[in-house]
Amino acid sequence: MKIYNTLSKRKEEFVPLEEGRVKMYVCGPTVYNLIHIGNARPMIVFDTVRRYMEHKGYEVNFVSNFTDVDDKIIKKAIEEGVEASVISERYIKECMKDMQGMNIKPATTHPKATEEICGMLDMIGTLIEKGHAYAAADGTVYFRTRSFKGYGKLSHKNLDDLQGGNRSLLVTGEDQKEDALDFVLWKPKKDGEPYWESPWCNGRPGWHIECSVMSKKYLGDEIDIHAGGEDLIFPHHENEIAQSEAANGKPFAKYWMHNAFLNIDNKKMSKSAGNFFTVRDISEKYDLQVLRFFMLSAHYRSPLNFSAELMEAAQNGYDRIVTCVDNLNYLLEKVTAGSMREEEKKLMEEARGFIAKFDEAMDDDFNTADAIAAIFELVKFVNTNADVQRSQEFLLGLKEEIVTLSDICGLIVEKKKEMLEEDIEALIQERQNARKVRDFKRADEIRNELLNKGIILEDTREGVKWKRA
Ligand code: AMP
Ligand code: ZN
Repeated sequence: MKIYNTLSKRKEEFVPLEEGRVKMYVCGPTVYNLIHIGNARPMIVFDTVRRYMEHKGYEVNFVSNFTDVDDKIIKKAIEEGVEASVISERYIKECMKDMQGMNIKPATTHPKATEEICGMLDMIGTLIEKGHAYAAADGTVYFRTRSFKGYGKLSHKNLDDLQGGNRSLLVTGEDQKEDALDFVLWKPKKDGEPYWESPWCNGRPGWHIECSVMSKKYLGDEIDIHAGGEDLIFPHHENEIAQSEAANGKPFAKYWMHNAFLNIDNKKMSKSAGNFFTVRDISEKYDLQVLRFFMLSAHYRSPLNFSAELMEAAQNGYDRIVTCVDNLNYLLEKVTAGSMREEEKKLMEEARGFIAKFDEAMDDDFNTADAIAAIFELVKFVNTNADVQRSQEFLLGLKEEIVTLSDICGLIVEKKKEMLEEDIEALIQERQNARKVRDFKRADEIRNELLNKGIILEDTREGVKWKRA
């Protein structure tokens, strides 16, 4: 399995630090609003990476944080006249709802910045002790960027270019910095803001320190994969590397993965220009599975353009897979139990070729576009070769392949319709009638049909009982 590593700027063979296990950290959203479809891209992409790793047999420890203390959260809290935690808790809940709609697995741990302040104070203390950080007169603590030799290795930037050219490095309190490149680890509180006590001042953490601390606490000093959107490469991830490696004295993450941006109608998403959608907006018009399909239809390192036409195309693509599985289920209701015939075994071999293609695409830096193309080839193959003459084993085998590959992409393609109670009772009655006239073939057919729909029958002395599987 090859992964493109931003650190080396090339695809590298994936070798985990510990055999059979993957430690993975993905920077999560700042929770002050409903998440937008741009935020959904890394969520869907890295959930798919995780699913594929799990499919390959790795045990994945997946950590993704919520940034729940930040200027934007505080601003919103002041506007609404509530505590900052009211805002962050509200939007964490909403974010989880959207994630469920997009079939994103909950992380092994979803830490929140405000619950990890102790760890942050510890790491800042260590950095000061080691000479990598210092407190200015007003209590602001800065990271001494030039003290960390590897600074710039992820973004492939040169320190002296940064010094001259990047104004974004000049944050408030710059006059107290030793050097314009230094960045904030801890800052004094302002009136009305949430704050914590610290040896340097009552205040709150800078943004970057939370990820270094949470990653260390939940995954250890060294991890396999660290990921996020490409806007995070600099300064966020560069700063995380500086903090973690300077504090721990060990290499931080082995592979750095970054998704490209999602644009709308070929323009940067912007609220003021009106080209901005939340995941919730999309869910009013589409099943969020269609959004997921859309995101995976491009390689994660290619910019992706969102438009109504492309969403329609995604809807059609997704429907094609769902319809194929629907048809297989329809055929499965028609056929009786039976195993694969010789000719079908050969066809099954051919079908396995599409799985190999799928794996090959995913092994090549998670090329989901080609992986979905392989699912489509399989769908076409099934549409040509599946009919009522086929054996149950053959049809079940095909269905399992499509469902498994789709599931690796996090796509739910089998809509399980719950049977109505009255329909179940009616079939049970029909089965009883068949048994009375000793038509056991029909009785068995009905039992099988119900089983296929997830209804289990139990014949007891008091009559037939049923339950959902
Ligand atoms: P934020 O809440 O801004 O910290 O963003 C959370 C995650 O969403 C980060 O990994 C960002 O890189 C990512 N992100 C934000 N906007 C976009 C976008 N338009 N396209 C892709 N990823 C994005
Ligand atoms: Zn982060």
